[in-house]
Amino acid sequence: MARYTGPVCKLCRREGTKLFLKGTRCLTEKCAVERRPYAPGQHGQSTGRRRKASEYAKQLREKQKVKRIYGLSERQFRNIFDRVLKEPGVTGEALLVALESRLDNLVYRMGFALSRKQARQLVRHRHIQVNERTVDVPSYRVRPGEEIAVAAGSRELVLVKHALEQFGRGQPVSWIQVDTDQVRGRMKERPTRDAIPIAAQEQLIVELYSK
Ligand code: SF4
Repeated sequence: MARYTGPVCKLCRREGTKLFLKGTRCLTEKCAVERRPYAPGQHGQSTGRRRKASEYAKQLREKQKVKRIYGLSERQFRNIFDRVLKEPGVTGEALLVALESRLDNLVYRMGFALSRKQARQLVRHRHIQVNERTVDVPSYRVRPGEEIAVAAGSRELVLVKHALEQFGRGQPVSWIQVDTDQVRGRMKERPTRDAIPIAAQEQLIVELYSK
């Protein structure tokens, strides 16, 4: 399935919760979820009067929510799930850790971009280095200890400067270390579930894909 390119606020309204798809801009802009707290579309306002959601519907919505937070297509999301299924440990937690370890996510978490979408753009346009080598693959799986930096020639980009001004306004996490002066950072360790600030019931996604 192709990546969604329409208005992102609609996705939040569809899930009925703030997904922060515009990153730190969501903290300053008027939020569509607050202004119109019902699903988008002609029948959006009548959604709440429908009968209770089935187990399947709940699992599906949870999967869609997490997939949208990280801006992935169904195929990309499913591939990550299939990979973590073969890893030891709790699958739901391993899924979130794998999503958090993506290069585009870390560029966003380190404050070099205002959203994951912008972070992906920075990576694709070769502005990001891992251990001093350019990496242009947003799905690159960062290992603890690897250094992520904005390339020296890209540090003056308006997008990066603007993002760094906002750094700390979002949800800073304890498992990364950032040097905003040098525009570089490091993942200190793989996060545990408690350290991932995503309000999701990942077990529902495991149940959905295990059918
Ligand atoms: Fe979602 Fe942000 Fe838009 Fe609110 S402002 S609906 S959180 S993308």
